[in-house]
Amino acid sequence: MSIIPITVYGDSILRKKTEKVKYVDDELIQNIRDMFQTMRNANGIGLAANQVGLDKSVFVIDLQEVEGYEKFKPVVMINPIIVLESDEIVTIEEGCLSLPNLRADVDRPASVKVKYLSTDEQEEIIEADELFARVILHEYDHLIGKMIPDRVNENIKKKLQKQLHDISDRKVEIDYPITEK
Ligand code: ZN
Repeated sequence: MSIIPITVYGDSILRKKTEKVKYVDDELIQNIRDMFQTMRNANGIGLAANQVGLDKSVFVIDLQEVEGYEKFKPVVMINPIIVLESDEIVTIEEGCLSLPNLRADVDRPASVKVKYLSTDEQEEIIEADELFARVILHEYDHLIGKMIPDRVNENIKKKLQKQLHDISDRKVEIDYPITEK
């Protein structure tokens, strides 16, 4: 397993829709292991493949370090599709390993139904709410090239501009590896 430098705001792969996975092969399984290791090393709770430079429609989630989620099993979602979103919208402050030190209030559906392939190529459909729904929607956004600044209003976005510039210039202090400019 290896820890991979995380792509940050400004890296073009984060702005592109990822490719669907055709086969769950050994390479993908290795990628997924690396993603978990990279995410945990950075104290993240979710990570999408393009955040480690891979053009693949996959993300991983592990909420076990979060209070109240200790028994929650880590999840891998391959080729996820959002089937249903609740009408109810909630505002929650989010962060992102590709936006080091940035926090912003983001409005998203409170609950979500998502269809995906598991690592043993079974089609799964699950319903999620609260933090799990939030992380699924955030990671799914990565796979379609969207990030937090695309999901906030213009006012908040303006306030984030300087920080976004600093991130793309690597003027950030963090304790996990990121890509070079
Ligand atoms: Zn993110």
